[in-house]
Amino acid sequence: MSNFDDFVTNVKGCASAVGEKVSDGIDFAKLNTYKVRIQSDIKKDYAALGEKYYLALKNKREEDFSAEIQRIDDLKGQLDSIIEQINIHKKLVQCSSCSQYVPKGSEFCPHCGNKIK
Ligand SMILES: [Zn+2]
Repeated sequence: MSNFDDFVTNVKGCASAVGEKVSDGIDFAKLNTYKVRIQSDIKKDYAALGEKYYLALKNKREEDFSAEIQRIDDLKGQLDSIIEQINIHKKLVQCSSCSQYVPKGSEFCPHCGNKIK
């Protein structure tokens, strides 16, 4: 399993714990990087699917596209999880003392009591 797969699994895992706590291991820049990467993977898969379909039509050949469709659906699922995480991050600020994420507008960190600027 690649680091990327681990990351996506991690994102999916903590998407359910929304509002409570966002994992410290996932930073905003990384989320944006993965979002762009998955979007580009989806584009490539669409292109590959289109080419396969074109060849099938041209050669009047029956083709099975279920694997390609499944792959695109998986990527779209991963993309949704990442966008969800990005949206959560947008509503949060990081505590300068304990590095936990707290809702924007909070006066004090609920984790360590630090004053949020
Ligand atoms: Zn704190």
